[in-house]
Amino acid sequence: MTNGESRQKRIARLQGGLSSLYLPLPDSTLSRLPGAPELLPGECFSSWFLRIQIGFRLPTRVLQTLFKVKAPGYWMDAGIEELDIEAISGVVMCHKESLEPLLWPRGSLLSASHLACLTTAPLRQRPIYRYCELCLRGDAVRYMRQLWRIACTYICPLHGTVLRELCPKCQKPYVLPNYRAGFKEHQLWQCSTCGADICDATSITPPDELRYVMLSRQAQLLQLIAAGSELMQIWKDVQMHAASSLTTDSHGLVDLSSEMNVHALFSRALSHCLNEGRNTEQQDLEDYLWRLRIQGADGPSSSIPIGLDGMRVFGKYAVSVFMQLIGCHDLWGSTHWWPTGSSRTLSDLGMVTARAEAKAAEWYAAAPKRR
Ligand SMILES: [Zn+2]
Ligand SMILES: [Zn+2]
Repeated sequence: MTNGESRQKRIARLQGGLSSLYLPLPDSTLSRLPGAPELLPGECFSSWFLRIQIGFRLPTRVLQTLFKVKAPGYWMDAGIEELDIEAISGVVMCHKESLEPLLWPRGSLLSASHLACLTTAPLRQRPIYRYCELCLRGDAVRYMRQLWRIACTYICPLHGTVLRELCPKCQKPYVLPNYRAGFKEHQLWQCSTCGADICDATSITPPDELRYVMLSRQAQLLQLIAAGSELMQIWKDVQMHAASSLTTDSHGLVDLSSEMNVHALFSRALSHCLNEGRNTEQQDLEDYLWRLRIQGADGPSSSIPIGLDGMRVFGKYAVSVFMQLIGCHDLWGSTHWWPTGSSRTLSDLGMVTARAEAKAAEWYAAAPKRR
């Protein structure tokens, strides 16, 4: 065997051993982004998209073209558009399987365009972004979780603390910053309004009983929203924590000050709900939504959901939950807290002006429809 032959054989062997990542893409016009940040556990699409933009200084349009998506990231989080994870994995040079968690919303109600209130606040015309300052502070690289994008998430399942959606400094709702080339103020953990570090806040931990009620209610709602999707399969950490055992104190009580216990409780409640949901007739999510009646110009009136009905979701605990959320949540945002009576529309209660109604209707009309 000559040196030349063995070299050729070596090259052939090496080529055979290379993963499909390095083979030419079918579409040669696509660029690649070697060294792109990887999708982190439970991360939502828009957060990952922004981190790639910042890393490569890419304008939104350019990255959207590379990823073959059209809708803004916050709609992509809800699964409004189909993600071609094969093409995306080629661009960022990672394994397709690592991007599968991004497909979770596809089988869920999040992607239903008539339920935009599950990830956005139609009255405010903005997406819902909540965060746990303790989770963010503990991140090696700070990122936003898919769970924080969903209207029914009030408590961090890892820390048992109230999630925030208002900047602790200026009290304006947090939104994911828009990447603008040349600007320095585009870090994910900074308030877009005042520039403060959104983690610079004192955590709020509800009393044990209330915390458990909030965790189990959000697990039940998540089960309704998850619908036919494979939530437990995709969220591996939820699966793992559901299986872990709870530690008890000397009196045999579960210690809710332990992070692991809080996470295990949420995961158990969630897995219990998801398993139940498969066997029993599903409760309707509609029961928990606030609807707004919209009067057509000439035609008949219609109604659109504008958020969750806090009184129905939390029942006798509603006022206590409401008190915990003051200063952290926009109380006119994605959950509404007016007493449920015979009249179930905000306009009947005089709470919503015609202008606000029009804004909510506009939001729904402009929302991309599931393709
Ligand atoms: Zn947390
Ligand atoms: Zn601020």
